[in-house]
Amino acid sequence: MALLETTGLTARYGDFQALFGVDVRLEEGETVAIIGANGAGKTTLMRSITGVLRGAPDEICHKGVSIGHLMPDTIMKRGIVMVPEGRRLFPSLTVEENLLIGGQHKGGRDLGDRIDGFISRFTGGPNPMELAAGHDGSGVWSLDAIYTLFPVLKERRHNPGTALSGGQQQMVAIGRALMSNPEILLCDEISLGLAPVVIRDIYAALPKIKEAGTSVIVVEQDIGQALKVADRVYCMMEGRITLEGRPDQISRDDIHAAYFGAP
Ligand code: ATP
Repeated sequence: MALLETTGLTARYGDFQALFGVDVRLEEGETVAIIGANGAGKTTLMRSITGVLRGAPDEICHKGVSIGHLMPDTIMKRGIVMVPEGRRLFPSLTVEENLLIGGQHKGGRDLGDRIDGFISRFTGGPNPMELAAGHDGSGVWSLDAIYTLFPVLKERRHNPGTALSGGQQQMVAIGRALMSNPEILLCDEISLGLAPVVIRDIYAALPKIKEAGTSVIVVEQDIGQALKVADRVYCMMEGRITLEGRPDQISRDDIHAAYFGAP
């Protein structure tokens, strides 16, 4: 049984159909990359998995349980956690405070009411990470583990989120998601807009995340990065899967055709 599986997944925005019967699976301990051009449907696939777009229950299964109809907070409780697009740090909190928000539900209520109050003022609701409390959140990811993964964050731990470069903010966003000890980490274009040297550092973390036992789906437009890091790759075009395979099994021509369509 796959850890996560979509079967015949469809998704719509009103009258517009964005996904047409998408089948992908993630096995335990795997890193899977989803590649495809702008508008191929990659983000829509992530929105469906995280419950932002809901469909038929059986279209998405987590460890054999139908979850396609569940709300985002329930999906998070199951340990399926997304690194938010655009990084979304709390700008006036420090690096360490931003990370601790991610770990709150583990019982590590280090900042207690201060962060709860801060978040409810911003969102008018409970801490979204707090909602993940049903997943037991046990695992290897602690502040120390995040600082080992991204040493620059330890150096900057007392700096506010706004004082960080784009790449460092992305590291905090990944670290914050990991602090909830997810079973599945979803990364949507984590390299977008970053300099190559920073992308290299961020991508260097992915094998370590996998070694720590967290299964990963990365959405990526950069085919080279995806092939380097993934155990298996899916290519999407116009809402459909056009190619699936291990990086060593698929040729450049296969990828070109699946990514851009036949000439
Ligand atoms: P990108 O790399 O540009 O993010 P993508 O592969 O993630 O592309 P999606 O964002 O999933 O693609 O978009 C798939 C299709 O759905 C596109 O045709 C897009 O225009 C459309 N779409 C996405 N979001 C919406 C929305 N909120 N309302 C209507 N159509 C949308």
